[in-house]
Amino acid sequence: MLRIINILDRPNIFLYKYLIMRTKIIKKIKTRTDFIEYFKEEEICIKYITQIRFKNGKFCPFCGCKKIYIFSNGKIYKCSECLKKFSIRVGTILENSKIPLKTWLLGIFLLSTSKNGIASTQFAHQLQVTQKTAWYMNNRIKSTYKRNKKIMAKKILHR
Ligand SMILES: [Zn+2]
Repeated sequence: MLRIINILDRPNIFLYKYLIMRTKIIKKIKTRTDFIEYFKEEEICIKYITQIRFKNGKFCPFCGCKKIYIFSNGKIYKCSECLKKFSIRVGTILENSKIPLKTWLLGIFLLSTSKNGIASTQFAHQLQVTQKTAWYMNNRIKSTYKRNKKIMAKKILHR
């Protein structure tokens, strides 16, 4: 099935960086239980994703402007150039979904650490979501992962 990818959606960058960052916290997190325990608070997830997303400085996902403001709730940003408001989800695979960040992170963790893949029923059960949601998440994460592999392969070839 053909998927239309929003031009603002830059999951490649997100997951690629996530995979690198993961190696840094992997000492603490070895199992699914460790992961759930570590990322149980939404604030921790936001902090973690923000670190990855703005690793090279904050920017607006719409126009690329680097002068952005954060609202006092710590969740919404506003661009000084195009005046658009956005959260850290915008421009990543987490965009346009109401799925909690901890569920997304757990989904990425499970898929990126399983060698032989996970059955959709098991994936839904482990994430405590419906099968429809699990299918949606699985598709988004996997398509990103495939494209990341291509990017990584290119990087090696050009060296
Ligand atoms: Zn902007």
